Amino acid sequence: MTTTTDFVLPPVTLRIGGEARTTGAGVHTHINPATGKAGAPVPLAGVSDVDDAVNAAHQVFAVWRATPAGARSKALLKLAQLVEEHTEDFVELAIADNGIARSNAYPTVTAATDWIRYYAGWADKLPLGRITSVVGAGGSFGHTLRQPYGVIGAIITWNAPLMSLAMKVPAALAAGNTVVVKPSELTPFSAMLFADLVTEAGIPDGVFNVIPGGPEAGAALVEHKLVKKVTFTGGPDTARKISAACAKTFKPVVLELGGKSANLVFADADLEAAAMHSTFMAFGIMSGQACALPTRLLVQDSIYDAFVATIGQIAASFPVGDPQDIGTVCGPVINEAAIERIHSMVGRAQEEGARLVTGGQRLAGDLADGFFYPPTVLADVAPSSELAQKEVFGPVLAITRFSDEAEAIALANGTDYGLSGYIWTGDARRAIRVTEALETGEVTVNGAMNAVAERPFGGIGHSGTGNEGGLEGLEEFFWTKSVAYGNG
Ligand code: NAD
Repeated sequence: MTTTTDFVLPPVTLRIGGEARTTGAGVHTHINPATGKAGAPVPLAGVSDVDDAVNAAHQVFAVWRATPAGARSKALLKLAQLVEEHTEDFVELAIADNGIARSNAYPTVTAATDWIRYYAGWADKLPLGRITSVVGAGGSFGHTLRQPYGVIGAIITWNAPLMSLAMKVPAALAAGNTVVVKPSELTPFSAMLFADLVTEAGIPDGVFNVIPGGPEAGAALVEHKLVKKVTFTGGPDTARKISAACAKTFKPVVLELGGKSANLVFADADLEAAAMHSTFMAFGIMSGQACALPTRLLVQDSIYDAFVATIGQIAASFPVGDPQDIGTVCGPVINEAAIERIHSMVGRAQEEGARLVTGGQRLAGDLADGFFYPPTVLADVAPSSELAQKEVFGPVLAITRFSDEAEAIALANGTDYGLSGYIWTGDARRAIRVTEALETGEVTVNGAMNAVAERPFGGIGHSGTGNEGGLEGLEEFFWTKSVAYGNG
């Protein structure tokens, strides 16, 4: 299969203090997930590049924090406008980065624009503290100051690079911090255009720096003395290393990790809507490679068999193929290693007693050279099995039955993760009860969309700590100073 357009990819460079560096400490060769073909060289930042980037961000911090809030807001609004104007370019870059289907890429750019604009709005309305008086009326005057940290180290993964930038960078900049971002070496392209537009928006050199790189660059960024806070999006194994490194100097860290989110379908739900939504969310968003997707479908006994059959039929009809084709819903997964991980988990699930309903084999023919795995449904998945407990990060849906509300809640809460919860029911009181009982950072009921800029997003347990989005996401980028004035 060929998957090309006339779009010319930008060269990948390190962006440090406004300078574009073409070399780092090594080179990664980008692989197009749809064709398996090698493409652009990606320079990898080394420890000295990380040091330079952090120093550049540190040097300009005093200038940026002293920039009038109105000017910071204006620059971020300009950035939002520029990203919006470059929608078509970002769509091409997203497809090149990780093979996301074109139909998926458009809403991602729209969402990224919303997030930038949302935090641009906060920049000149910052919740800067509160006035207090000690010992009640007539006591000494005091107040709190909300202060930017300085240099923020941001480490992001490959599944949605533009979205991850938009969820972290505008909030950090609105609060007056400067940022060094390390994108995954697998997906460097979107960050290149983003960096160009940051400059075009009038944000001073060094306020935003990009250092594509691997684990070594990430570790150096986390450990750098001038990095005052870390914000990370990725998997729990890396998060453990980052947490341990941060613990050495008590550096604060936001961790946005994975999930095994349960989707509870009760017999009293709108079953047609539930089936369409459950299937689309499992397979039709980034080929199942997103953190908050409902990858565990819990279905009530009385409707179980018919519902599983419907899910299998819808999943089997999903258009899988060339991400450039606007009719494609599922593109490839990221790389060969992902195919192997996904396929081996599907195999082990069957050994543990799950029943394969559809999918389960890497796609061949025209798609053989790319990394294509079909929507795969497994039913009768035992709650304690690997497939019910571990994130796959691919187009695989695990279905388990439950008898009543109490069992549904126990199953939903029965993993180490706590990112998202999905509920389908026609009973409003049940929706409220179950919402309260789910141990997750977010809950959506009857197909609502929640990943929006104005509400916080983040997990508990192995899904992480801290938030992106909303006022909570902004507050991650301040520390609080308590100030008191005496009479002397
Ligand atoms: P990963 O943890 O392997 O890599 C993420 C980033 O960390 C990459 O940039 C990588 O180079 C860097 N890294 C690797 N080792 C490092 C180290 N020792 N120190 C510092 N940085 C290091 O993540 P992945 O497996 O590629 O990404 C998929 C995971 O990301 C899934 O678990 C998914 O659920 C999660 N994710 C979470 C969210 C969210 O917002 N909660 C969003 C997207 C993806």
